[in-house]
Amino acid sequence: MRVLVVGAGLGGLTAATDLDAAGVDVVVLEARDRVGGRTHGIEVASGTWADAGAAYLGDRHTELHKLMAGLGLSATPTAMRGGSRFALGHGEKTRAGRFPPLNAVALGEMFDRLYDLVDAVRPDAPWLTPDAAALDSTTAAAWAAANLRHPDARLFFPLFLGEMMAADPAAISVLHMALYLRAGGGIRYLNAFDGGAQQDRVLGGAHQVAERLAGQLGDRVWLGHPVHAVEQDGGGVSVRSGDRCLTGDAVIVAVPPLLAQAIDFRPGLPAPRATAATGRGCAVKVQLVYPRAAWHEQGLSGWSVSATGPLLSTVDDSPPGGAGVLTGFVTGAEAYRFAGLDPVAREAEVLSQVGELFPRLGRPVAVHITDWVNEPYSKGCYAAVFGPGDWTRLGPHLIAPHGRVHWAGTETSTEFFGLMEGAIRSGHRVADEVLSLEGDK
Ligand SMILES: Cc1cc2nc3c(=O)[nH]c(=O)nc-3n(C[C@H](O)[C@H](O)[C@H](O)COP(=O)(O)OP(=O)(O)OC[C@H]3O[C@@H](n4cnc5c(N)ncnc54)[C@H](O)[C@@H]3O)c2cc1C
Repeated sequence: MRVLVVGAGLGGLTAATDLDAAGVDVVVLEARDRVGGRTHGIEVASGTWADAGAAYLGDRHTELHKLMAGLGLSATPTAMRGGSRFALGHGEKTRAGRFPPLNAVALGEMFDRLYDLVDAVRPDAPWLTPDAAALDSTTAAAWAAANLRHPDARLFFPLFLGEMMAADPAAISVLHMALYLRAGGGIRYLNAFDGGAQQDRVLGGAHQVAERLAGQLGDRVWLGHPVHAVEQDGGGVSVRSGDRCLTGDAVIVAVPPLLAQAIDFRPGLPAPRATAATGRGCAVKVQLVYPRAAWHEQGLSGWSVSATGPLLSTVDDSPPGGAGVLTGFVTGAEAYRFAGLDPVAREAEVLSQVGELFPRLGRPVAVHITDWVNEPYSKGCYAAVFGPGDWTRLGPHLIAPHGRVHWAGTETSTEFFGLMEGAIRSGHRVADEVLSLEGDK
């Protein structure tokens, strides 16, 4: 049996690795000149790697942990010792812990309402949630306008979603928001460092997971091969990339839905994988490099939240015992604006904001800015954002095979949707699916 895999992100590489282990002949076609997709390591100082893409993981990310152990990779804790900095409209403030200096009752009521939505969503099949049509017909922005009365809740809600989903409430269907928060382990888990989804990072960078998987597959991973057409008939499937045409028995498409939608499938797909409402999370990640993590000497964790932009949040991503690395996130509509600036203006905005948040740090020795907004082969960073009507329309078809075409990628996983863990689980699921075909013969 020969299986062609489109996309060398964690989803595609996991699937290819499982199939290879089962004795299947696999070829992975990757559009970029590197593997890893939305995981991407950059060397920010000599020998110091930072995650320009996905970074954080928690104990519940069991498949990622298993994969890391098998590849000889380990986790390192994300340091959160010390106070947090907030710039929420009344100057900068320092607070112990991560709770913002806003009305606690108003934020508590906001989270209570969100918990109700998250508890109600059906995690395996969100489109079958009672009231799915109503929840999927409206945006998180409209939900907030109708449900959040206190100005502090209205201020904080888009910051919370911007941090969790890298998207603006106006782009997100309420059903998608509920599913995303549920799939990631619930609001408390998804939002937490200690004991939560941000507890750890991969020591040396998350990109190593894909690099090591690809290393094991060797010359069966073809870089620089964007797939633009997939044709199938009773005899097999052919996949076209530029002038090349590869044939096989099945193909696994492990790319985000908006990119899968751009592939010319013949015969055509019975149902779309994206609609005009399907959006994408948008993030620009900024790494400021210092000789050491000097914010600790000032009793600060490096964590900050700002309503003023461009950075929505900062977090300490320093490697153990090495340079100080402060990572900042610009998300949603602000990421589009920021990504449109020239590099000098971007850096000036970041330095000015960080100078106000952490006044005694001095100038960083380097600033690295990774723009995911304009990445042609991602379209969704952290992940695709399903807009109104998407889950009810697309959901039932997201993983249904189209003949010899099978689907993977984090957006096909209702467990840990949008996260590395979701991508890996999707890879295992699709490999089992393809292997079961062989068993049925
Ligand atoms: C800035 C950022 C921060 C994030 N933070 C976290 C985090 O802290 N924790 C976490 O768990 N997750 C995080 N994520 C999300 C995580 O990176 C993704 O969920 C996961 O990596 C997706 O893997 P995937 O295999 O589904 O898709 P991808 O990684 O997108 O892989 C798809 C691959 O397909 C390739 N491709 C696309 N189109 C074609 C084509 N036509 N032909 C051939 N190849 C094609 C792409 O180049 C890519 O390599 C973050 C993402 C970003 C961008």
